[in-house]
Amino acid sequence: MKLSCIYRISPTNIIDHVDSNFAEFASEAGASTLAEGVIGKPFTTFIAGSELRSYFYQVFMSARCNRKVQQIPFRCDSPDMAREMLLEIVPREDRSLQIKTYLVKEWSTPHNVLLEAPSARTRARSKQESLLLCSICLRVFNANFHSWEDIQQFAARCQFFSKEGTQVPRLQRTVCEICEALGSGCQYLITESDGYPSSKDLLVFLHGAGQGTWLMRMQVPPRVIYDFDARFPRFTLVSPISTGRQWNLDDIESIIKDMVDNHGYSPNRIVLAGISVGGTAVLELVARNAFPYLGYSVVGAVPKISDAKALSNCPSIIYHGKDDQVVSYKLVESMVSAIKLQGGLSEFVPLSWGHDCWHQVYDASQKTSFWTWYRKLLEEARDSNQS
Ligand SMILES: [Zn+2]
Repeated sequence: MKLSCIYRISPTNIIDHVDSNFAEFASEAGASTLAEGVIGKPFTTFIAGSELRSYFYQVFMSARCNRKVQQIPFRCDSPDMAREMLLEIVPREDRSLQIKTYLVKEWSTPHNVLLEAPSARTRARSKQESLLLCSICLRVFNANFHSWEDIQQFAARCQFFSKEGTQVPRLQRTVCEICEALGSGCQYLITESDGYPSSKDLLVFLHGAGQGTWLMRMQVPPRVIYDFDARFPRFTLVSPISTGRQWNLDDIESIIKDMVDNHGYSPNRIVLAGISVGGTAVLELVARNAFPYLGYSVVGAVPKISDAKALSNCPSIIYHGKDDQVVSYKLVESMVSAIKLQGGLSEFVPLSWGHDCWHQVYDASQKTSFWTWYRKLLEEARDSNQS
């Protein structure tokens, strides 16, 4: 196994050191990047696509949280050469990370048109359907078998090893569930939807206990609604995933700090939303007051009456099922009264359901839906900025 290059990223994911092999490695990987152009820039600047960025957030966060060396196998093939690589992430005391890449094995292959630069592929003017390709392991999703297949095998089977003028499908980059699981010896995963260039609004959504699996990730309410309905306000969603039953508030705050420091989100435009234990974490985050939150929304959360003053600092909408057997309805009701007594703008929405009433909360067709409240909040914030 041959060491390819070493670089280091700061606790806020800024590249602060690269070794002399970096330029060579970057050009092998198809990027024309010089070391001087890299130092001082956020690592995510060099990652294309929100899925891959999310993946690296997850891996880095996990290395820092778990404080152990993490090894991730990946592929770095070019049209005529296959390369098995290994990424080794070493967390350090100060939360910076040393990242080493190794070349494990390389071998030459017949010319694989799937791996040509996108411009060459565009010229082929393919009318075929697009293919899902994992950016980490370079496996292609085989829709017939619902499984992932090595890109070289796939090319051989479907005759993409060849000559001029081969019609090539469009490749849609993603991260497969196997790589995602490998990268997540981890507690946190961020699913960052692409925001609109004009939007500085960040919605941080924390799910409830047991909703942290890969499959659930696609069913978490804001994700679904955000992706499929254009009527909703423009915002970027950060939806970390926890496989545990609790949220680590320091980690959530460091995620938010990274979005503000490195990705241009305004610290004044952050809204927190959460379900059950995620809702409880939201209340705790608001009470810690690390950011001037624009507002917050919780469903089925456990309130702490002693936090009422801190919780009255920004507008909120608090949902609770009247038949909730997990968290006392009465307790939440008195919490909302306490917030109002402190002068807080808090809306209380009792629902005729139990603890899992969040389906109703995120159902946009409901009059008291979270989305109605969120849209109003964003519009008011925009109006007050303009006046
Ligand atoms: Zn993969």
